[in-house]
Amino acid sequence: MIQITVDEDSCVGCGLCVKDCPMKVFELKDGRSVPLRPEDCMGCLSCHEICPAQALEHRGIYPAKRHYVDIRVCEMLNRVI
Ligand code: SF4
Ligand code: SF4
Repeated sequence: MIQITVDEDSCVGCGLCVKDCPMKVFELKDGRSVPLRPEDCMGCLSCHEICPAQALEHRGIYPAKRHYVDIRVCEMLNRVI
């Protein structure tokens, strides 16, 4: 399963990840983002790109899950990642 952590010191509570996540993984609690449903994460990393504070970290994302485009692309990514 994908593990998600939010750096509480970096998160500014803007809520962009809450609005952006297609799987509704995050909620705001006490002015900080909390990944309440990490099991629903599909590893798109859209939240990483939108977070202004770079406060998010994901572990356990594999190329075949994120870039399921072509088996040759997956093989190339597995060689370089
Ligand atoms: S990687 Fe995608 S699905 Fe996972 S928490 Fe971020 S926006 Fe949501
Ligand atoms: S986008 Fe980043 S700074 Fe904004 S609430 Fe989410 S984790 Fe916090």
